[in-house]
Formats: sequence, structure tokens, C-alpha cells
Amino acid sequence: MTARATLTIDLDKIRGNTRRVVAALDGMYVVGVTKVTCGSPEVARALLAGGAQALGDSRLENAERLRASGIVAPIWLLRSPTPALAADAVHLTDVSLESELETVLALERAAAVAGKRHAVIAMVDLGDLREGMLPADLPAFAAAVEALAHIDLAGIGVNLTCYGAVCPTPENLGELAALAAQTERRLGRRLEFVSGGNSGSMALTLAGRMPAAINSLRIGETILLGVDTLTREPTLDLALDAFVVEAPVIECLVKPSMPSGETTQDAFGNRPTFVDRGPRRRAICALGRQDAPPEGLVPVDPRVEVLGASSDHLIVDVEALSRAPRLGERLAFVPNYGATLQLSTSAYVDTEFVHSAGLTNKIVARSTPSIPEE
Ligand SMILES: *Cc1c(COP(=O)(O)O)cnc(C)c1O
Repeated sequence: MTARATLTIDLDKIRGNTRRVVAALDGMYVVGVTKVTCGSPEVARALLAGGAQALGDSRLENAERLRASGIVAPIWLLRSPTPALAADAVHLTDVSLESELETVLALERAAAVAGKRHAVIAMVDLGDLREGMLPADLPAFAAAVEALAHIDLAGIGVNLTCYGAVCPTPENLGELAALAAQTERRLGRRLEFVSGGNSGSMALTLAGRMPAAINSLRIGETILLGVDTLTREPTLDLALDAFVVEAPVIECLVKPSMPSGETTQDAFGNRPTFVDRGPRRRAICALGRQDAPPEGLVPVDPRVEVLGASSDHLIVDVEALSRAPRLGERLAFVPNYGATLQLSTSAYVDTEFVHSAGLTNKIVARSTPSIPEE
């Protein structure tokens, strides 16, 4: 146990979650997405062991980390590189999601120099307004890519529920299926992948309403955090606590619940409001907004309540605990997607991997309240 905040990642839970998701997606090609863990090779191996057929990450630095650890599975680059980074993309990844012909032409030159082939998924925007060309531009793009000597047009894809929070539906994914069929007719061959989105597309599949032509999804959050990303409710009976962050207590005192004195903006320009609950025992943990947004942390012990945080101090109400936590004792929280992303990135948070199937005491302790009774 370190004295710093620690993100514990249970690789057996991730492998188990992957198994269930892959089984539920029944025959679809599942790309397991590692970006929320900064391309952790350990997490990547758990995804592959659970049946993911490829890895996906949005950053070349993460792809490099995966390759440097010896992973040889196909890697999909989920965010297009700039043309200047085409050589790295070709060197480190097998497939990339593209919407700009200029970038694909740079990939072609880089692949020719490297003596390699690189595959491209043509991304189409179907309303979410993040990446993707408008459907009307797909035929010319596909024809231009098909003519290249070192690039394979492996398929077409869409991303939804990210920027515009647009839901996957039989209509918009039906449009993707129709575009795939149209592209196949024009090219006179089948496309290997019709990539129907991220975790947000799982619900449609589970409901049996996914158009049959969609044969691949790119899944991160549902596997890693166990939730349906349209509702953030548990799904498929997946483990919800593969990621747990523990932060040590640096102060634990009884204080009034209302600030005293004239109030102004807080450290982040907000005007906080407070409810007077009288004097309460509060703990401060050594974790802050620099490491995770406090709104994204759910205490493992339901008697603990997150009150807020500044850049380096997480303030929690521990009045309901029968015993006050000692200094240095750690409180545990399950992070949501945004918090997991930031915790993985924070240089101030250690990462530790555990295997709950090997059943260490640690995990047993984690599933019980974080502050044991005395
Ligand atoms: C992040 C990302 C994914 C995975 O998203 P989840 O919601 O974590 O499943 C899939 N596709 C693209 C293009 C992404 O950027």
C-alpha cells in the first residue's frame, strides 16, 4: 500500500466483462478500447484474453505503449492522425478511422515508404457531429481510397453518443448499413467491416434491433465500467468496480456544515451553495480536481458522501461512519468514465493491478465497507 492515491485495476473483472460483452454481441468483431487507461498493456491483454479481436486507442502514444510491451494484436487508431504523423500511424497501427482524403494520401505515402499496408475505415457523420464525412461525400472518398496501392478500404463506420449525444437507432444505423451496401455495389466487392459505433450501440444490439449489416463495434466503457452508456445503468450483470481509486485521509475533523463569513466565488469561479446540517465529521483525502472531478467519484462505502473538491483536496462527509478514519487510512471510490480517464492520466496517482480471481484479501476487503469496524 502506498501513501499516495492509487487507482486499482482488477484485470480479472475486465477479462470477465469482456467475455460477457463478446458473448452478448454474438459474432460481432469487437474492438476493445484502451484509451481511458492511456493504452495500458495490462488492460489490453485482459481485453484480448476475454475475446476482443483487436484493440482500439485514440492516441499514437498509447499505441506505442501497447506495441512496446510486445502486443501484436491488430490496433485500430480511433482518432485520425494529422498528415504529419502518418508514418507513426502506419508503423504503430493496422487500421485507422479516417474522414479526410489528405490524411489518407499521407498514409499511402508513409505505407509505401515503410513497405507496409494500412487499412482505413471511412467515417461517416450521421448526426453526432464529431468525426466523419457527410454521407454525400462517401462515394468519391471510397473511390479515391480504393485506387491507392498501399491502403485498403476495410470498411465504413460511424461514431455516435459522443459530441452531439445522438442515440444509435435502427434509422441512423440503417443508414450506415445502406451506405455500406451502396459502397459495396460501387466497388464491386464486400467490405470487411461495418463499424456501428461504441458502447452506446450495445443496447440496440441487445434489444435485437441492430441492422444485420453492422458487424463490428468498438467498445470501451461498457467493458471497463460495466454500464450501458445511454443510461449509465448496470448492464449484462457486469462487474462495476474493475476500477477503484483509494485516497489517503490527511485531515478528519468535526466542523460546521455551513461556511462562515461573507462568501464569494470558489477556487474555480463557482458560487457553491450549502445546506446547514449542523456540525459534521469531515475527512479530507489527498486527491483533487487535478486527478479526478469529484462528481465522478462514488464512495464504495455508502455511508461516505462526497461534498466537493478543490485542485488537491477531496472533502467527504464521514459522519455516518461508526469510527472516524485515521490519518493515512484510505477511502475508496468507484470512478465514472471521466474520472477514470483523468485518474489514468494523473502523474500523482499510482496504478496497481490485481487479479480478483486469484482472490487476494485485498479484493475481499474492497467489496466490504472501506472503513472496517473496530
Ligand atoms: C472512445 C471511442 C470508442 C469507445 O467508446 P466507449 O464509449 O468507451 O465504448 C469507440 N470509437 C471511437 C471512435 C472512440 O473515439
